[in-house]
Amino acid sequence: MSERTVVATVEAHRQLEGAGFEVRRPFPSPRLSLVDPFLLLDEMGPVEVEPGQAKGAPDHPHRGFETVTYMISGASEHEDSAGNAGRIGPGAVQWMTAGSGVIHSEMPARELNADGGRMHGFQLWVNLPAAQKMIAPRYQEFAAGQIPKVSDDGLVVRIIAGSFGGVAGPVETHSPVTYLHVSLPSGREIRVDVAEGETAMVYTFAGDGDGTLRIYDTEGDEIVLANSGSEPSEHLVLAGQALREPVARYGPFVMNTSQEIETAISDFQSGRFGAIAR
Ligand code: MN
Repeated sequence: MSERTVVATVEAHRQLEGAGFEVRRPFPSPRLSLVDPFLLLDEMGPVEVEPGQAKGAPDHPHRGFETVTYMISGASEHEDSAGNAGRIGPGAVQWMTAGSGVIHSEMPARELNADGGRMHGFQLWVNLPAAQKMIAPRYQEFAAGQIPKVSDDGLVVRIIAGSFGGVAGPVETHSPVTYLHVSLPSGREIRVDVAEGETAMVYTFAGDGDGTLRIYDTEGDEIVLANSGSEPSEHLVLAGQALREPVARYGPFVMNTSQEIETAISDFQSGRFGAIAR
């Protein structure tokens, strides 16, 4: 095994998203537009929401990529133009392949808005290969209990996609992608295998290094995560095969050419994405 080195360290910036909720966003930013094949990473909260103050992302379109929602605390309710509706509770994952296009809403669960409470989650955007950008939309949804865990004396790895320690996550991806949530007690370290040449990065969201994204060199086949702080630390480990295709993006549309973006906008404006039936 050879250990990868960190080639870039990025501090997440704060900004408002959707109807006005704050996210911590390591990328995209003016300095870092994407980490191929990943297009965006947002951390929503953690925040204690006051009753009546929960904000979400009302009806909006997507085309050409996948949105992955992973909730830590609180719950999100989802509806879309294909008639799907669901709830993403604590520890649950929704891996949405937008493909040719959906209009969806992502809103805090009703009881969170009524009673207030803690909200904490992530959204990752994963690019689709050019040949699959216009495939039919698809959902993969897994409750907390369906996400496999590898535990070792307080150290926990939740495997959403890809594999760790011989245990595979449940998500089917369109290109090789690994998505792990690592909970690391103080003083511990963990070694994570990553395929030679794949993109790899770690976003730390609690403990030492909170709010920092580390991007690794593509040489080497393992990354070492160590918690030298006094508190437990929490990390998302993301790895994937870079697509190395042109990226044309405009808000919720991510295609390969500006012509395809113009088509997406005109399809949306002329109602070809449909609407959420209510
Ligand atoms: Mn969305």
